[in-house]
Order: sequence, then C-alpha cells, then structure tokens
Amino acid sequence: MLTLTHRYRIYPDTTQEQQFIEWMEICRSSYNYALREIKDWCNSRKCAIDRCSLEKEYILSPELKFPGEVYQLNNLPRAKKEFPKLSEVPSQVLQQVIKQLHVGWKYFQERGFGFPRFKKYGQFKSLLFPQFSSNPVTDLHLKLPKIGVIPVNLHRPIPSGFEVRQIRIMRKADKWYASISLQCNVSVPDPMPHGHPIGVDIGLEKFLATSDGTLVKPPKFFKQLQSELKLLQRRMSRKKKRSKNYEKARIKVARLHHKIDNTRKDFHYKQAHALCDAGDLVFMEDLNYRTSAKGMFGKHMLDAAFGQFRSIVKYVCWKRGKFFGVVDARGTSQECPECGEEMRKDLSVRIHDCPYCRYRTDRDVASAQVIRNRGIELISTAGHVGMETACAADLPGAGVTQSRQVAKSLHRTTRKPKE
Ligand SMILES: [Zn+2]
Repeated sequence: MLTLTHRYRIYPDTTQEQQFIEWMEICRSSYNYALREIKDWCNSRKCAIDRCSLEKEYILSPELKFPGEVYQLNNLPRAKKEFPKLSEVPSQVLQQVIKQLHVGWKYFQERGFGFPRFKKYGQFKSLLFPQFSSNPVTDLHLKLPKIGVIPVNLHRPIPSGFEVRQIRIMRKADKWYASISLQCNVSVPDPMPHGHPIGVDIGLEKFLATSDGTLVKPPKFFKQLQSELKLLQRRMSRKKKRSKNYEKARIKVARLHHKIDNTRKDFHYKQAHALCDAGDLVFMEDLNYRTSAKGMFGKHMLDAAFGQFRSIVKYVCWKRGKFFGVVDARGTSQECPECGEEMRKDLSVRIHDCPYCRYRTDRDVASAQVIRNRGIELISTAGHVGMETACAADLPGAGVTQSRQVAKSLHRTTRKPKE
C-alpha cells in the first residue's frame, strides 16, 4: 500500500469559511468534553475507595468504567440529542475528534508523559474527513459533505491509479488548505542499500555538510524575514488587545509566520533533493533536536527546524528510491574519520587536524564522514533489516501537529486504567 499526501490551496467563500470555523469550535468543545471525562475518571481513581481523599478529588462511582474510545464514540448520538449543535458537523468528522484524543491518550500511556491538554480557543485548526464513497476531487472543485463544492487549486494532478482516502482541511494564517491522502494498492519494496553513501551533518554555522565536502550555508533570507517579523510583532504589541487594529496586525504576523514556514520548507526540499542527487544512501544523526533546542542555541535550533529537515530528507529518499538511515550521534565531532582515533575539540575549532594520521579537513565535513562510516558499518553488520524506512505519514504538515513537549523523566509511571 502506497500512501502519498498532497496539499492543495482551497478557496472557500465567506459562508463556507464561517462554517468551517464553527465546526472547528464544535469539535474543540467535544474534544475538551471528552478529555474532561477522562481527567475526572483519573482523578477519582487516585486514592483507595475506602479512604477519604485529602486532596481535591472527584468521587465517581467505583463501578464506573474508564471512558474508552468506543464508549465515548457511542455516546456521541446521545450527546447530539442534548446539544443539537453537534449535528451540524458531519458525524464522521466528529468521530475523528474522539479518535484523535484517544490516539493522544494511548501515546501518553506508552511514553508516560505528555498528558493530552485542553485546547484553547483557536487551537483546533483542522478537520479530518476520513472517508469518501465517491471521488470528491475534480480538476476545479473539492466536494465535501454538508458544505458543498469548494474551488481548489490543483497545482499538481492526482497521480493516476491513486484514490482519495481522506482529506484534512487546515487553516494556516488566513489561508485554507486541503491535505489529501492518496492511496494506491501496490506494494513497493524498500530500497536495498547500494551505491554511493553520503553522511550528512547538520549544524548552525553551516546548514549542512556532506561527507563529499559539500558545505551549504544557512540561507540569508531567514535573517531578513526574522527582522521583518520582529517589526510586525512590535507593532502588534502596541495595539490594544481585541481591537480591530490589533486583529489586522495579528493577521499580518500570522501571514509572515506562514511565509517563513513555506520558505523554509521549500529550502529543505531543495536541499533534500540535492542530497539524493549526490548519493544513493543518505545517513543522518539521530539527534533529538527538541532537547538541543532547549539548551543554549534554542531559538536558532528551532529556526533551522532540523527535525523537519530530517523527515523531509527521509521522505524524499523514500520517494526517489534511495536508502535513508540514522546513526548514533554521540561524539561524531570528536572522532577522526580516517583513523577512528578520538580527538577532543570544542566548538571554536573549525578545522579537523588529526595529530595521529595528519588528516586535515573542515570540522563539519569530518563529522559527516564519521556519520557515513557509522552508516556503512550499520548496514554491513546489522543488515538493513529492521532499520527505519521512510513513509509519508510523519511528513510535517501531513498530520496532526505534534506536541512540543520534551520529556522531563522517562521513568515516571502513570496508572493505567482498567478497561
Ligand atoms: Zn586520524
């Protein structure tokens, strides 16, 4: 099964736009309601039944079962009778909200952190239409239940043989997009590792360095856009909150954020394609960029969006039939790629000059070569079985936004509900 996600700009008219926004609000309240049920249940199970709780607890009947996914889904029709507003949203879209919450809940249970949070006003930004009985996409229009036809800019055709599985409607700044999931019923073998390997090291001073000696500087336009953003944000902060002028300024800021996102993504895609042009096997570090973003270089790390870049490289490799692998990131800058000897150097040392074998090259190129060596080792020892291969599912923008939370402790245990 081959899944691709294409994103198209759509142009809903004012009433449709209003309707989408209302639906999102209804979905948000259902999400929060369902989360409240889960939270209340958890709170009521925090002390033994025969004790009096010292802290604030919600006493629920001990027979009451955990509000699971099926239970909450089955409760939707009843809730619709009580709150007729819920019926305005297509029922499958509403069901997806509950499913989304439980995906988050399960994820929380597996990791032991990242409890789902209530969504504030405006934090619910997408609607998922999970199923279509007939093809909803034509060259000019998108047809959705209960809302009718919406003009779409089909800037690239739906590839032949693919059918539309689901559509996610998204709002970015004041623009609307449809993320269309396409599926084709063929099986594609994972790419076999062969050909020219390259290691890629990404950093702040140089955006990336490859083991072949290519260095790419971080593009200048980010700095320019960044200062523009600062200006707009300052203007916005001077406006009175909730006033019309504040709203105008807010939209300008949101548009610029959106533009920065798009520019960055475009840059990342071009770099990823350039990597695939240069080699057949691409190796990168398995750094946890979110943890490094918390440290000294926080803002710059997030601006460069290394995590996004890595998933884009992974996706482009998959699409072009190249092999992608991640290697252990520890000490890549402290090792000589030629003789493997350890040599300490701090961030100020820009040139790798090995005292043992006299190998001399750029510091980042040296780390990229270490990454390449580790990648080759990984393939030859473990084989490529069980290694990560790319898929379109976790492409940025394709799915739900991930939480930015970073683990405080992996070992914290949470009580699992008995279902
Ligand atoms: Zn050496």
